[in-house]
Amino acid sequence: MSECRICLNSSNDSALISPCMCSGSIQYVHSSCLQRWLKEKYPNRYKNMLSRTRSCSTGLKCELCKYEFQGKIKFLGLSGILKKLKETQALIYIVLNVPVILYLVYKFNHLLRHLLNVSKSHINLIRIQSSGCKKFLMLIKFYIRFLVGLLPVAVFGASAPTIAYSTMILAKNLISECQVFEIKSVSRKM
Ligand SMILES: [Zn+2]
Ligand SMILES: [Zn+2]
Repeated sequence: MSECRICLNSSNDSALISPCMCSGSIQYVHSSCLQRWLKEKYPNRYKNMLSRTRSCSTGLKCELCKYEFQGKIKFLGLSGILKKLKETQALIYIVLNVPVILYLVYKFNHLLRHLLNVSKSHINLIRIQSSGCKKFLMLIKFYIRFLVGLLPVAVFGASAPTIAYSTMILAKNLISECQVFEIKSVSRKM
């Protein structure tokens, strides 16, 4: 009876494969056990591999025989994807971030327009002022007001792309979470 070299069981929902050149009692492993082990052992390499296109060197090797595992990157089935979504909660953040980003963009646009309109009327006021000294003081006052008004515009303007970027990273991670590296059994010449 062949058993999995990771969980030492013979039964599991996942198929027993022999993915490398190891032979004998350590030849077999569950596809799911091997995936879990690879994810824990090489978290970055595993993640990078999922974000790349198919059929390239994986860099994921058997510790014993150093054979590089071969396989295909596949999307999980619907039930697997739903399970992942439940586990990660990333989708909730992504969905919640969308109205936040829209609000920030709206607010930025609104504040910027307001600032420009106010500035325009102030400049007109300064222009019609005849006294040079008063003109100068008004100009100083205007600059200070303008800089103070610019601060919230800058804050809203900077936070929208920042949140959008982190949401994009979250979405990208979520997509790679919904993929697996399905490892093939090697064909052996007996
Ligand atoms: Zn197993
Ligand atoms: Zn091996």
